[in-house]
Amino acid sequence: MNNKVTELLELDRKYVWHPFTQMRDYEDRYHVPIIRAEGMKLYDAYGNYYYDTISSWWCKVLGHNVKDIQNAMIEQMRNYEHIMFAGFTHEPAIKLAQKLIEITPRGLEHVFYSDNGSTSVEVALKIAVQYWANKGRKDKDRFVFLENGYHGDTLGAMSVSGTSQFFEPYNSLLFDSFMIPSPYCYRCKYDKAEGDCNYECLAPLRDILETNHDKIAAIIIEPLVQAAGGMIVYPVEYLDTLMKIVKQYDVLIIFDEIATGFGRTGKLFASEYLDESPDILCVSKALTNGTLPLAATIVTDEIYYAFYDDYLKGKTFFHGHTFTANAIACSAAIKTIELIEKRRLVEKLPQKLRVMNEYIEQYKDFEFVGDIRNIGTIVAFELVKNKKTKERFKKTKRISWQISLSSLNYHIILRPLGDVLYFNLPLCIEISEIKEIFSIFEKYASKEIRNICNGNC
Ligand code: PMP
Repeated sequence: MNNKVTELLELDRKYVWHPFTQMRDYEDRYHVPIIRAEGMKLYDAYGNYYYDTISSWWCKVLGHNVKDIQNAMIEQMRNYEHIMFAGFTHEPAIKLAQKLIEITPRGLEHVFYSDNGSTSVEVALKIAVQYWANKGRKDKDRFVFLENGYHGDTLGAMSVSGTSQFFEPYNSLLFDSFMIPSPYCYRCKYDKAEGDCNYECLAPLRDILETNHDKIAAIIIEPLVQAAGGMIVYPVEYLDTLMKIVKQYDVLIIFDEIATGFGRTGKLFASEYLDESPDILCVSKALTNGTLPLAATIVTDEIYYAFYDDYLKGKTFFHGHTFTANAIACSAAIKTIELIEKRRLVEKLPQKLRVMNEYIEQYKDFEFVGDIRNIGTIVAFELVKNKKTKERFKKTKRISWQISLSSLNYHIILRPLGDVLYFNLPLCIEISEIKEIFSIFEKYASKEIRNICNGNC
């Protein structure tokens, strides 16, 4: 190994604390040192390449190193990079807001910027609570959320996330919220078969709203896919029904489209599958094609004007981040959206997805695949010890860790969520790349996954 690379990696080991990582796992190995990225591929310092099959945490809808986006950023940088966003404004932020209003669901009219997914959720929660307070209903400060839902790692976002396995040490800091069951059809708590139920899992929502609607500000949902909770894809009809129930009460609906936005589900936004629009929408991740952190929380007129009054009435939204509406990030976002539209990437998806689905079908009978979930460019395989009983693997087996490491030897990046192995492919993927990636996966699955699941690794 090149000495310079090793030196650098020693410094990484000494000084850097990586996210979601037990650093001790790297006592006898290094993180993969990436030196270049192009399209769907990452290249490391040892001359290996990897297909970025999870789009670098679901951001890179257009792939890596997109010159048009870089040029837009450079052009912006030559003018100004960042301007404080209270008392001042700028064209990239204005133009982006106008575009976001044009492309997001009807009824959403005003954009509040922040700088990552979690902060956009914090903004949504605070807006929801203050909306009701500004209308004289200070008691409405609780939230409803879904089991297996995930909305970020900040304290507010954790309080409305149903992925408690990540949050245990902080439980005492989190505020009380109402949790309803996840539409996790594969492991239905009501023992119903998928597509053959009356959404019995929504009964607790009806009860909670009936008894507590006076206390509840909003419900927060990841539409159609509970992403970090295990890529749990669920029916449109479930969400339509849920929204109809919620709309009978004075309770706002927050959609977290941080993971599903910008084409992931086969439409530009998952909201487009639904009859009704949310009151608040959060977007981030692919907004800038993962070039710079940026997020937006988008609200209706009704919400915006609940804050719009004489200053001394105390209705101002006192929230902001230093990097709110960073001009380079906004320019990157404008170009990202322009390219998605110009290249007709969402319109071209069905043809690509047909090819992908042919490969996915083959895994139905695979020994350790309990469930296959798929929407748009997301494909997830839930691995189980026993297909009949759906028994899970013991945690001590660390399936996820083993797959993360071994998939790299096959030039693909798989970072399973628990025992759920997934692909989150970019919209720009070519049919030839789909064929190559899934052919590799076929070899990988039949050898390595079988070995790992059998306990031979
Ligand atoms: N909401 C959802 C649905 C997410 O998937 C994520 C990130 N995985 C977040 C919120 C948090 O975003 P960030 O990591 O940018 O804080």
